[in-house]
Amino acid sequence: MSDHEDFDPLADAHHDTRAIRSGISRTHEGEHSEPIFATSSYVFSSAAEAAERFSGESPGNVYSRYTNPTVRAFEQRLAALEGAEAAVATASGMAAILSICMALLKSGDHVVCSRDVFGTTISLFSRYLAKFGIEVTFVPLLNIDGWRSALRPNTVMFFLETPSNPLCEVADLAGLSKLAHLNDCLLVVDNCFCTPALQLPLTLGADIVMHSATKYLDGQGRCVGGAVVGRKQHMDEVVTFLRTAGPTMSPFNAWVFLKGLETLRLRMEAHSRSALEIAEWLQQQPAVERVYYAGLKDHPGHALAAKQQSAYGGVLSFLVKGGREQAWQFIDATRLMSLTANLGDAKTTIVHPATTTHARLSAEQREDAGIRDGLIRIAVGLENVEDLRADLQRGFAGIR
Ligand SMILES: *Cc1c(COP(=O)(O)O)cnc(C)c1O
Repeated sequence: MSDHEDFDPLADAHHDTRAIRSGISRTHEGEHSEPIFATSSYVFSSAAEAAERFSGESPGNVYSRYTNPTVRAFEQRLAALEGAEAAVATASGMAAILSICMALLKSGDHVVCSRDVFGTTISLFSRYLAKFGIEVTFVPLLNIDGWRSALRPNTVMFFLETPSNPLCEVADLAGLSKLAHLNDCLLVVDNCFCTPALQLPLTLGADIVMHSATKYLDGQGRCVGGAVVGRKQHMDEVVTFLRTAGPTMSPFNAWVFLKGLETLRLRMEAHSRSALEIAEWLQQQPAVERVYYAGLKDHPGHALAAKQQSAYGGVLSFLVKGGREQAWQFIDATRLMSLTANLGDAKTTIVHPATTTHARLSAEQREDAGIRDGLIRIAVGLENVEDLRADLQRGFAGIR
């Protein structure tokens, strides 16, 4: 055997190369693009081999709830991008969060969670974990004293998203991981808004990262999926839960996400560039009271974001003068952007948080969290920026 065969060209490869080349294992057909292994089960060459596979004595596939080569390729590629020992794919972003909780928490444990996380995450924690004797305290993302004073002897996990939705607040990952570790807690970060192309929470001290792959990892709004990444020790626990409970990723969806990872950095940079241009333009508009985007120099999280992210992402929000009526008039007058709560798509989306994504909050809770009635969120896609500005201009003209 020559040295050539032992050489791993990915060992010292850069992010872009890993995004395209990690996780490839060709079949005897010699295909260039990764195949979709649309099979629920696998055959064995002998009864003895079947016994060895079932016992785990020999590696290999048994059943696609356990392992699937397409899903494995996605997991390996994502792990390489996040700089993690291992990744585990799940049926959705929520299945990723559920799997982390079921695998690593038990009755009597306490979790501290940012108040400013995805709405369904709050429902999962407060409605379902509570049922099994796991308590959760919600704290404002930026209030480090709030995190500290929420700690109890039985606190085992911190959970947060940064930047937050929709106000783009930026949490100090290094600071919070220090606080978590001083108290023997795991720091879990939902890295959905930045993706590994812009932010690597594990390098800043986070223990586990999760994704809704539905958003930027796909990038074209086609599939629902999720993932958990981190140390092998934790991922083994998550895998065991997934294999037992079943919310695993389908091979087709894994194939779509695998392709998405190849263009992730290029897309995230383009989303970020357009979002910054639009944020700066919105600041000049007389009907706008305030723009929330961490790429803007006057955003309170700007310096921190500049330190821990390589760009500022595609999501921004802005406050129109007036209130709900003006925001709705604006949204209804746009013609190009999609009116939907989704994000992370090549197609730009627009939504009114106070009456959709954050409608479950009481008026006081919304006020407290800064989700005002005049607030509009856009997730800037990959269309031409001039065309997007023209659509926003139609929005302004629609305010009576
Ligand atoms: C969408 C989203 C989720 C949930 O993911 P699904 O794939 O919809 O289950 C979790 N966190 C964030 C930040 C999200 O945007």
